[in-house]
Amino acid sequence: MPAERCASYYNATINQESNYPELEGDIRVDVAIVGGGFTGVATALELSEKGYKVALIEANKIAWGATGRNGGQVTGSLSGDAAMTKQLRRQIGNEAEDYVWNLRWRGHDIIKNRVAKYGIECDLKFGHIQTAYQMQHMHELRAMHDEAQRRGMGEFMTLVSADEMPAYLGSPLYHGGLVNRRNMHLHSVNLCLGEARAAAGLGALIFENSPVLDIEEGDLATVVTAKGKVCANSVLIAGNAYHKLARPQLRGMLFPASLGNCATAILPDEIASQINPLDLAVYDCRFVLDYYRLTADKRLMFGGGTNYSGRDPKNVAAELRPAIERTFPQLKGVDIEFAWAGMAGIVINRIPQLGKVSPNVFYCQGYSGHGVATSHIMAEIMANAMDGQLREFDLFAGMHHIRIPLNEWFGNQALALGMLYYTLRENWR
Ligand SMILES: Cc1cc2nc3c(=O)[nH]c(=O)nc-3n(C[C@H](O)[C@H](O)[C@H](O)COP(=O)(O)OP(=O)(O)OC[C@H]3O[C@@H](n4cnc5c(N)ncnc54)[C@H](O)[C@@H]3O)c2cc1C
Repeated sequence: MPAERCASYYNATINQESNYPELEGDIRVDVAIVGGGFTGVATALELSEKGYKVALIEANKIAWGATGRNGGQVTGSLSGDAAMTKQLRRQIGNEAEDYVWNLRWRGHDIIKNRVAKYGIECDLKFGHIQTAYQMQHMHELRAMHDEAQRRGMGEFMTLVSADEMPAYLGSPLYHGGLVNRRNMHLHSVNLCLGEARAAAGLGALIFENSPVLDIEEGDLATVVTAKGKVCANSVLIAGNAYHKLARPQLRGMLFPASLGNCATAILPDEIASQINPLDLAVYDCRFVLDYYRLTADKRLMFGGGTNYSGRDPKNVAAELRPAIERTFPQLKGVDIEFAWAGMAGIVINRIPQLGKVSPNVFYCQGYSGHGVATSHIMAEIMANAMDGQLREFDLFAGMHHIRIPLNEWFGNQALALGMLYYTLRENWR
C-alpha cells in the first residue's frame, strides 16, 4: 500500500505533492541514497549538481520523516556545539572555535541560496527570539549576544530586557530574550519537495514507497528493496531515527525521541499580531524546550515535550495545550486543528554522526532535534566526501561517540530518566 503522509499542517499545505515511482528492476548509479528527508535529498541535490548519477530511495514519501514534521526553525545552534568544539580542538587546535562558529551559519546560507536558485516557495522568513524562561537564562543570552558582537554579527542580534518583551511577544512568561535576525523559519515539506524536484531536474532518480531491506557490500554496494536493486559505487544511509540498517555497526549510537507538534486554527489578525507582532520563531532556553511560530496563514504552530519511549505520544494536542495556554493565556480554548509527532535522532554527546559502515557505505545522522540547518551542512560535507574531498568528513568521522552497550529499549529508558531530571529542574521557577 502506498505510504500516507501524517495529518500535519505542512501536509495540508503542500504546493505540489510528490509522485515518484516505486523502485522496480535493477539500476546502476554512482551513488545510492537511502532516505528522503533533508539529509538524503540535500545530499542528492549536491551530488547531482556535481554531475553524479544518483538514486534516492525512500521507504514512504519524500519528507515523510522528521523533515516533514518539525518546527521549521532554522537555528544557528548545532546542538552539540560545545562538545564538538572540545573534540575538534584535539584535531585542529585553535581553529576549532572559528570552525564551529562558521559552521553554525553555513546551513542558513545553503538553504537561502538554494531557495533563490531553484525558486522554491517555502514561506522563508527571517527572525528568531530565544527567550529566558528563568532569570538566570539571561546570562546565557547575554554571553551569546556578546560573542556575536565580537565576531562581527552584532547587527543581527538584539538583547531584549523583560520590560521590552511585550513589543516582541504577548506572553507573560519570559524574563527577556535574544533576537537573532539571521535565523530563519520555513515550511519544511515544501522546502524538501522543492529540493527533490531540483535534484530530479538534474537527473537524480527518486523512488518512493520503496523500503530498503538490505545493503549488500562489495566493490560495488547493492541496495535491495522488495522489487528492485540499485548497484552503486557508494551508498549513503540517511534514514536517521527511522532506519534499522547496519545494526551491528550502528546499534546503540542513536536514540529515537518522539517530539510533538501542532497547529491551531487560523488566528484573527489582531490576535496573531498581539502574540507575535514581528513574526519571529521562538524557543526558550530550557533543555526540554517549547518552540513555536506563526505559519504563513497565521496559525500558531507549537511544539514541545519529548518522549523517549521510542513510540509516539497518544494525544499530542492534549499534551501541548497546557503549554500553549500557559504561554498565551489569551489563546485559552483555541482550536488545535493539526497535531502530529515525529522521531528525532538523539545522540548522547549531540554531535552529528558521520562515518562508514564499510569502505563504500556511509552514514550521516543524529542532529538531536536541531536538524533543519545541520542536515544541509552535513549533506554538503557528505557530498564533498563522496566527491573525494574528505577533510571535513574525516573531522566528523573522527569524533568520539558514546555507544550505549544495552539494547535500544534500555538505552531509551536511560535517556528518558536523564530528561526527566532536566525537565523537573528547569520547570522550577
Ligand atoms: C517534531 C519535530 C520537531 C523538530 N523541530 C525542528 C526545528 O524546528 N528545527 C530544527 O532544526 N530541527 C527540528 N527537528 C529535527 C529535524 O526535523 C531533523 O533533524 C531532520 O529533519 C532530520 O532529517 P533526516 O533527513 O536526517 O531524517 P528524516 O527526515 O527522519 O528522514 C529519514 C527518511 O528515511 C526514510 N527511511 C528510513 N528507513 C528507510 C529504509 N529502510 N528505506 C528507505 N527509506 C528509509 C524515512 O521514511 C524518512 O523519510 C524536529 C524534529 C521533530 C521530529
